[in-house]
Amino acid sequence: MRCYSQEILDKIKEYKKPTKKIFALVEKYEKVAIFAHFSPDFDAFGSQFGLGVYLKNHYPNKNIKIIGQSLTLLNGELYPYMDEVSDSWFEDPFVAIIVDTATLERVSDNRYTKAKALIKIDHHPNVEPYGDICFVDVTSVAVTEMIAVMLLADGRTISRDIATYLFSGIVGDSGRFKYASTTSLTFGIAEVLTSLGVDLSYVYTRLYVQDLDDLRCIGYILNNFKITKNGFAYYVIDDKTLKKLNITADRAKENVNIFSDIRGIKIWASITERVDTNEWRVSIRSAEKPINEFAQKWRGGGHVQASGASLVNREEIDIFVQEMDDYIGS
Ligand code: AMP
Repeated sequence: MRCYSQEILDKIKEYKKPTKKIFALVEKYEKVAIFAHFSPDFDAFGSQFGLGVYLKNHYPNKNIKIIGQSLTLLNGELYPYMDEVSDSWFEDPFVAIIVDTATLERVSDNRYTKAKALIKIDHHPNVEPYGDICFVDVTSVAVTEMIAVMLLADGRTISRDIATYLFSGIVGDSGRFKYASTTSLTFGIAEVLTSLGVDLSYVYTRLYVQDLDDLRCIGYILNNFKITKNGFAYYVIDDKTLKKLNITADRAKENVNIFSDIRGIKIWASITERVDTNEWRVSIRSAEKPINEFAQKWRGGGHVQASGASLVNREEIDIFVQEMDDYIGS
């Protein structure tokens, strides 16, 4: 039997009750579907596959589906492909687990609405409590960290694959253990997962591998970014430019952290055009000042130092930039 630090033991104790409730509800259904948000990130994938594979391993007779968008550079590499599920699958009773998604409108597949029972597991501010069970821990750096603790509380075997999925999400949402939301518990859980056989170089090369097109995109950003007088740095990439750079909007936004650690830049953002949803998606990051409430005013939300928002046209971009600059100066 492994010994855990007092901090991990306390967290396991805190999670015991909600974990029991979640597993009891899951056990009532033969079918289970696990959902996450649009533009999935490492924490979304890691949570879905970490929890999903654990359930598949320990409930081999259940019909468990992991549902959402696949990303070319990640699925089939670090993570399996998402399950392709026909509409008829959702006609039988099933329980839906939604991870890492603060609001229902952000769930990437709306067939969760057919579920007989709903479970929310999240670490964002609980602006929209939903579900028959709503388990939210805003002190947690990542949902994968929460799920790791839940699985330790449940007590059954955590395979190396599961540990790898969970570790990848923690790395992603903690910015490789750098963001202020990283705690001593994060390191403790990372140590537990690593001891289960996570191959660090396997994970890091797959999480952060880039193409030459990414490099060209970075070149474009460095040549075209703007900075306001109070220290808001941002870049705008429209659809035409994305095509020219041969890059998706999701990849282009990933470069937003080019501006972290630059003296004088207090808040930074990527603004990328999404023709499919007819919007300009903003990914905002901040060194210190909270940005989640600011993002909420612009059809978004998120964490204190990492949030997302949505703008409807170019005119709104100018207003957004001006208001952000005023906010930094206030
Ligand atoms: P992103 O910039 O897309 O990487 O998102 C940063 C953080 O903000 C993530 O935790 C997202 O889940 C959250 N977020 C992004 N967009 C939205 C939105 N429209 N509403 C609420 N939260 C969001």
